[in-house]
Amino acid sequence: MSAPTISRATAVTGLAPLRPVVGGGTLVPLVDGTQVSYANLDVAASAPALQAVADRVTQVLPLYASVHRGAGYLSQVSTALYETARRTIGAFVGAREDDLTIVTRNTTDSLNLLAGCVPAQPDGEPGRVLVLDVEHHANLLPWQRTTGATVLTGGATVAATVAQIREELADAAADRPFALLALTGASNVTGESLPIAEIVAVAHEFGARVVLDGAQLVPHRRISLESTGVDYLAFSGHKTYAPFGAGVLVGRRDWLDAGTPYLAGGGAVRRVRVGGTEWHEGPARHEAGSPNVIGAVALAAACEELAALDPAEVVAHENALRQRLVSGLEAIDRVEVVRVWADAVDPVGVVTFTVTGYDPGLVAAYLSAEHGIGVRDGRFCAHPLLGRLGFDAGAVRASVGVGTAGEEIERLIAAVGSLVADGP
Ligand code: PLP
Repeated sequence: MSAPTISRATAVTGLAPLRPVVGGGTLVPLVDGTQVSYANLDVAASAPALQAVADRVTQVLPLYASVHRGAGYLSQVSTALYETARRTIGAFVGAREDDLTIVTRNTTDSLNLLAGCVPAQPDGEPGRVLVLDVEHHANLLPWQRTTGATVLTGGATVAATVAQIREELADAAADRPFALLALTGASNVTGESLPIAEIVAVAHEFGARVVLDGAQLVPHRRISLESTGVDYLAFSGHKTYAPFGAGVLVGRRDWLDAGTPYLAGGGAVRRVRVGGTEWHEGPARHEAGSPNVIGAVALAAACEELAALDPAEVVAHENALRQRLVSGLEAIDRVEVVRVWADAVDPVGVVTFTVTGYDPGLVAAYLSAEHGIGVRDGRFCAHPLLGRLGFDAGAVRASVGVGTAGEEIERLIAAVGSLVADGP
């Protein structure tokens, strides 16, 4: 077996990173003692902050104060920053006028919050939730725990999967209809998506709402609740070029206003008496305690930066990287790229692969230690999917973003090629 030849002619060139990211060009040590520029191909796990986001955080740190309840000048400034950030984030994802934008910790937090707000069935049983087995655990376990969700094994094609969803919703409609369909925006394993607006229409036909796990979609594609009809959207700041600690749940007000407050505490209440509590409606209901002002401001700054980019340019940039990654990896003996649906369209820049005969953890360690390339290995918090596809032993995931350069993709392909060529 020989290593694939990577020539300049086949290299993806001319795709300069669209936006500078903090930490770009960081030198990392290799096992031989040399240093190379770090190739961060693990942006699906956490995307490095954009420079403009870091600048905004630096700018607002001196204004840091308690929001909402303080009369002091800095409290007023902080409150204005926080509420403006909320509006910016909602606008970025096309929130409808009456939608709530609730600041949470991350996607997991957002989905757990919503799970506590799904209305019960008329007989008091938990509201029914339908979910596919392709989901990240964050969009599976909250539904299983609070509603005993029905988990559907997806089909081999997008068309078959949509048909299955329709059938399941239709079968339940007369007797015990589903209240909610929990759907991935883009798979964190393969980057593949289902046709969102089409599925929303199907769900609405049978009286179910749709929550979209946007953790891997929002950083890569523009999504609008208003134009797709998606009822709820969850995503994370740290995957959207902002720091850790802030995420959001955006969506229809009625369930959220009626649901049990996510946390009990100050800020979520209008009036407290010894005998009973009057809870707020609106975002405050689910944001008890001192909120993450800086996190919300940082996420809003990231949304503004992404909104300023030409969406077509982002898609073209990431598609070129993804296509080169897939074709380069598939040209190497023993490498298999993981796919869920044969007919998936417009996957985002997340590519998972295995190298037959090599433990995924060792491949990831080799790429880091010998080549300064960061990837992810394991089962990506998607055990049911990896199990169904026959990858119970895990796999390796490379992912790209707006700051990824073509040269980093070439390094990965060459490194995997040399691993296979030099191996047993
Ligand atoms: N959903 C998807 C598709 C993800 O990729 C992730 C994280 O990897 C999550 C949900 C959970 O995100 P967080 O850890 O930010 O809550």
